Amino acid sequence: MGTHKDRKMTADLLISGGTLLTLNENNDIFEVGGVAIAGNRIVAVDETSLLAENVDAKQDLDASGCLVMPGLINLHTHAAMTCFRGLADDLPLQEWLHQYIFPAEASFVGEETVYWSTLLATVEMIRSGTTTFCDGYFYEDAAARAVSASGMRAVLAQGVIDFPAPDVPDPRVNVKAAEAFLLRWQDKSSRITPSIFCHSTYTCSPETLLRAKESCSELGVLFQIHVAENQAELEETQDRFGRRPLEHLQALGLLDARTLCHHAVRVNDGEIETLATSGAGVSHNPESNMKLASGVAPLPKMLAAGVIVGLGTDGCASNNNLDMFQEMDTAAKLHKVHQGDPALSSAVEVVAMATQGGLAALGMADELGCLEPGRKADLIVIDLEQPHLTPMYEPCSHLVYAARGADVRDVIIDGRLVMRERQVLSVSEDEVMAKMREIGDAIRSKQ
Ligand SMILES: [Zn+2]
Repeated sequence: MGTHKDRKMTADLLISGGTLLTLNENNDIFEVGGVAIAGNRIVAVDETSLLAENVDAKQDLDASGCLVMPGLINLHTHAAMTCFRGLADDLPLQEWLHQYIFPAEASFVGEETVYWSTLLATVEMIRSGTTTFCDGYFYEDAAARAVSASGMRAVLAQGVIDFPAPDVPDPRVNVKAAEAFLLRWQDKSSRITPSIFCHSTYTCSPETLLRAKESCSELGVLFQIHVAENQAELEETQDRFGRRPLEHLQALGLLDARTLCHHAVRVNDGEIETLATSGAGVSHNPESNMKLASGVAPLPKMLAAGVIVGLGTDGCASNNNLDMFQEMDTAAKLHKVHQGDPALSSAVEVVAMATQGGLAALGMADELGCLEPGRKADLIVIDLEQPHLTPMYEPCSHLVYAARGADVRDVIIDGRLVMRERQVLSVSEDEVMAKMREIGDAIRSKQ
């Protein structure tokens, strides 16, 4: 077979010659493998020699000396906060939020700022191997326009908070505004899925939370919230409602498979069980939790209980970057030192969390997350021919403990090459950085 040209499978892009980490059910690895893509889907995965015979591709991408794998999923960020990166560090969460972040947002967050800051975030994420991210912020229409331009895939949530927000000055209509966002973006783009993000139990009343969840349920979209991030939140929620944050959500009936809880640091064994049985997803954000001294989430217990957990960086003001390779390294090491057990949070578990765990929490696990025919084509190509990655015994070990975002050479999202040889093709990086310097100058002049 394969000798008659007219019997060959046609493809738009053939990636060949690299080591394939398929992350499929059998965890197949092809030493010299290939992936054929037609439109936005993977159509064939096999040994390079077989594909070369059987596939007629319009474009070839030589991945010799590289690792080819599904793209990473950043389950929690506030992309537009790249404009506040490094503005206020080394402060407790509540002081950081109320004295620096909320006032800076009130003065500077507008459509322009959100557009350019989100575009910058997408460039940073593409350059470090993230293909899908889950976002929550204000002026989310502007974020959606930036994501459209970048070529990335994202779940984008309009933020809801019970005080005047930059884009919704009257908090009485905050849920209405978020609902309008859902309607504007539902079914508008195959790469953008709308969502609502209620900031927290201490900034949103029970009525706000219930109305927001109802809007999400009506349209079958994801409801997101920061939950049990630190001790101060725990105490404040207990004082006001007589319940711990997660108990509060459970009592309001807000936990189900279409709810995504960010952080879940201060959760006890009973609450972990509640998360597992409800099917709600959790984003684990170790670097943000460390930087804000929020605490250490009980990740090993959550995974053992069967909670759906993905990995996120959180916003750039509390991390301060969007590099999922650094986040994986931290997620693997934090729990070892915290519990004195080097077997916890293994490299394989962390890679699964940064790919399939995130997708499961987003309800996208059937469409993405492994290299097999029929899946949407979101892939990254990592350059292994470098001193810190030579030799390679076990791909997941290198990905978590040795590789960094800058090792990602090419990125394909929805079947389209958005970065080739470390050149982002979808966005002009120089233009974005020039705009961000202007925005930074304006913010600095008002400090
Ligand atoms: Zn956050």
